[in-house]
Amino acid sequence: MNLDTPELRAFRQEVRDFFARELPEDIRGKVAEDRMDLPKEDQRRWHDILVKKNWAVPSWPVEWGGPGWDDARQYIYEREYALADAPRHMSYGINLLGKSMMKFGTEAQKTRFLTRIRNGDDFWCQGFSEPNAGSDLASLQCKAVREGEHYVVNGSKMWTSEGHVADWIFCLVRTDGSGKKQFGITFLLIDMKSPGVEMQPIWTYDGGGREVNQTFFTDVRVPVENRLGDENQGWNIVKYLLGIERFGTAEVSRSLAMLARLKRFAAGARHRGGRLIDDPAFSRKIAEVEIELRAVELTEMRLLFGGAPAGAEASLLKLRGTEVQGRILELLYDAVGSHAQVRIGDLEAAKGVPAGPNQARHAGTAFFNYRKTLIYAGSNEIQRNIIAKAVLGLRG
Ligand SMILES: Cc1cc2nc3c(=O)[nH]c(=O)nc-3n(C[C@H](O)[C@H](O)[C@H](O)COP(=O)(O)OP(=O)(O)OC[C@H]3O[C@@H](n4cnc5c(N)ncnc54)[C@H](O)[C@@H]3O)c2cc1C
Repeated sequence: MNLDTPELRAFRQEVRDFFARELPEDIRGKVAEDRMDLPKEDQRRWHDILVKKNWAVPSWPVEWGGPGWDDARQYIYEREYALADAPRHMSYGINLLGKSMMKFGTEAQKTRFLTRIRNGDDFWCQGFSEPNAGSDLASLQCKAVREGEHYVVNGSKMWTSEGHVADWIFCLVRTDGSGKKQFGITFLLIDMKSPGVEMQPIWTYDGGGREVNQTFFTDVRVPVENRLGDENQGWNIVKYLLGIERFGTAEVSRSLAMLARLKRFAAGARHRGGRLIDDPAFSRKIAEVEIELRAVELTEMRLLFGGAPAGAEASLLKLRGTEVQGRILELLYDAVGSHAQVRIGDLEAAKGVPAGPNQARHAGTAFFNYRKTLIYAGSNEIQRNIIAKAVLGLRG
């Protein structure tokens, strides 16, 4: 795929100019510091700007309010988006649920939900994992019993990211426990304001603020019309949705933006009387990680534009993409040195002055926070199992 045609070059420039002009500087600054706690208001403000430009749902077709771009334009847009330090799109609604709904939803569901996702009216979160169902997701036990035109849901969901700011949750529930465990799972859309939905924070050790939660359902009544797909057939939707999630988690463009920030920081940081970036040992580490990242990028391009649908191969991308991203953040963590060790917020509150360089403010938090990418969207051990069996054909 040639991404360097005159049309695509002009498109890239248009995208670049738009971000340079329209992305609010305060929001860009927070993203560039790898802050984990971008407030919902900031996300909303940025989303509104994208809605006006018709770029809020870049992977959606025109029919549902997207720009209807081909793969090349989507790829270029995503790259420029990340390099501009724009906040991530609201992925749960736009990429995971939105695309699954286009494939499996009824026309009434599409009309009701997709426009609201596009316009940023509804924030969504994902209710798949449970205290005893993560890697082995099909063993989930959160139960739904049909009573007339409702399902009554009881149980809990674990690790609900952004659940505390979400309006809706898409959930997997057990509606039949008799057969194979992949059978009997149903996909429900649940309004977070429904009586019986409660949420408790799970505090993580990165110090980045509230991100994950445990969600509890007690006799929550969900209208049958909020079921996506057929009863007991939710596993088909799960397989489709997890494929999208696995692909997106590689975040090659975001990693390139992080690498650029690492280089900028190392160029400005002093080390043994010179610049850190000129230190042979450190610059070698940067070069090594850049080579690895470019290799992931090539793999991504092969999967995207190679002509064959990416199946289990998406696991390669998730595995290496998240490892390399973690390595970049580790180098930044090393580069800021002792400043990464302190709870910067506490120190600033106490003294009223920034402690250390700006880039150091969230380097420690980001490094620890991003360990999650090795776990979610299917842990990297599970990806290795998939690659061994489905890509390499190993048995054992
Ligand atoms: C920060 C964060 C945010 C998350 N957000 C969400 C969310 O929004 N919604 C949601 O539904 N879920 C979310 N998750 C859950 C995530 O998908 C699960 O944590 C993940 O699937 C792993 O499941 P588990 O935690 O139960 O670990 P387990 O499945 O118990 O695994 C524990 C360890 O054993 C390994 N392991 C398990 N089985 C095998 C095997 N067969 N072979 C080799 N190794 C194996 C795993 O790799 C892992 O290292 C989130 C997780 C994190 C950490």
